[in-house]
Amino acid sequence: MKSLVLLVLAATIAAADPKQDLETAYAKDAKARALALALYDETGSIATVGPRETMDGGYRGLIELVPQLPTGKYRKHLQWTLTALRHIDGFFEALYAGSSATRNYRTDHLEFRFIRSLKKRTPSAYAVSWAIAYNVNGSLMTTAAKVEETLFHEIFHLNDGAHAWSQVLATDYDAIVAKCGTAVPCLAPYAPNTTKVRGGTYYAFQPNNGSGVGEYAAELAVRYWKEHRRILAGQAVDAPFKCGPPENRRAWDALVTEFFGGRDLVPACS
Ligand SMILES: [Zn+2]
Repeated sequence: MKSLVLLVLAATIAAADPKQDLETAYAKDAKARALALALYDETGSIATVGPRETMDGGYRGLIELVPQLPTGKYRKHLQWTLTALRHIDGFFEALYAGSSATRNYRTDHLEFRFIRSLKKRTPSAYAVSWAIAYNVNGSLMTTAAKVEETLFHEIFHLNDGAHAWSQVLATDYDAIVAKCGTAVPCLAPYAPNTTKVRGGTYYAFQPNNGSGVGEYAAELAVRYWKEHRRILAGQAVDAPFKCGPPENRRAWDALVTEFFGGRDLVPACS
């Protein structure tokens, strides 16, 4: 009986036509429709909307979110998403070029749920089980480059969730927080990325922000991406993260092994 139910369910899913759904959803904006179809054709990802909801944003307070299809004046967000995914895919192509390591990092077949926050400009995005909520009103979603960085951060969360991984960094992370609290000068050598909360500290160490170590891990992945983008472009990395305190080295090596096929192109520390 159970297998029959599963069979019927599978048949229902197979019968659904995502492209037809996109054609319908974006019927009023031909340019946005073309972008949504390109996103689907190239990456298997769907651009849709998130639900209306009141979100408990931790340190951000309560936030009202409403569905917002990326059409009309919001269409640029769909363009930025498509461009970001093309760049991220190109990054991994280049990273694995000439390597026999298997790429074990999912950047395709995702769902982008576009939303708009009312009164506040946070969160810019959040990740949940192979879907990313994208806030067209988000304070980070203002340029193609910032969107690309934010989406790299969120895509890491999705992969981290699938691996249930970032907790392995908790011992070092908790020790850093115990030592520094939120003091920026003390945290600076440990912060993987420059993003800070307005009036707060480094995003990786912001209290009351869900899993702190999960945010640290996502910012670490962004640092890996930034350093490797430079190397793949033939540029030097001035202060490699792994050459900082020993905690950095441990976190870096664990990340490289778990997610990036052991590919560490950053030169050895002197
Ligand atoms: Zn995050």
